[in-house]
Amino acid sequence: MGFCSKCGKELADDAFFCPRCGVRTAAGVTAGATPPVMEEMRDALLRAGKEIEKAVNKAAKEMDDTLTKAKENVHATKAKMNQTCPNCGAANLGNAAYCPKCGTKLS
Ligand SMILES: [Zn+2]
Ligand SMILES: [Zn+2]
Repeated sequence: MGFCSKCGKELADDAFFCPRCGVRTAAGVTAGATPPVMEEMRDALLRAGKEIEKAVNKAAKEMDDTLTKAKENVHATKAKMNQTCPNCGAANLGNAAYCPKCGTKLS
């Protein structure tokens, strides 16, 4: 039975850390137990990791949105490239301004 070197609390023989103030006991030092500050740092890192993960997920989602919009634009462009004459029905007119079959002005 020992006492905490910091706060004086009675310590169990097998205690590696003071149950009151968390300071590492002589037994804890001997056993090489992880100091509480390391635990806190690990928790902080884990939390930071979660934040980074969230940020990455958010960025990925924004990238997805951008890609979806880009794809929509490509579809729109393709639709224009494959325009059909509204007058004579000639198809695959590309980006022609006028129908090569009937001369109708294409939008
Ligand atoms: Zn203590
Ligand atoms: Zn036409």
